[in-house]
Amino acid sequence: MNALELTDKQLCIAYEGLVQGAVCLDEHLLQGVWVYVESAMLARNIARETYLRIEHLQSPQCYVRMSSLMPIDFFGTNDNPKNDSPCRDANFKPIVLKVCELIPHEDAYPEQRWHIQRVFTACEVASAIEALLVLLADTQQFPSCSVCEQRYPRSFLDSDRICEDCCYELLGGE
Ligand SMILES: [Zn+2]
Repeated sequence: MNALELTDKQLCIAYEGLVQGAVCLDEHLLQGVWVYVESAMLARNIARETYLRIEHLQSPQCYVRMSSLMPIDFFGTNDNPKNDSPCRDANFKPIVLKVCELIPHEDAYPEQRWHIQRVFTACEVASAIEALLVLLADTQQFPSCSVCEQRYPRSFLDSDRICEDCCYELLGGE
């Protein structure tokens, strides 16, 4: 199920976002997404400095979340025919992709607002992963701070593309 339509460059940017802890996946998606992304990198022979670890994909500082209401048969190895039934129901979309908007607050931690971006059926898991990676590769929506190079939702950076944290430090906070 490796039909990624991303360019190598997009995949690299998305991979970097994953390693930085941009994403939190639930137990139903964790292993499968990790294997999927690693095999895509391998298949394209893309070199990387830091390897993606399972822990990276359950980041508490994430700004993208993907979860599934049910276990997903990623590699078609599950021979329980009952697991096919959700696929026949096109209206049942257990996979949910959510994005966080960070609203900066004076003197307080920014407020998080989560928005549902898309939902997918269990059979569309490959499209769901693709959508996740396309999202992470979007440097307009998730630019990197010009000081620490960490990527954030756009709302967390000021007009000079400096994140709230770096701004605070530059202003002499402690
Ligand atoms: Zn920064």
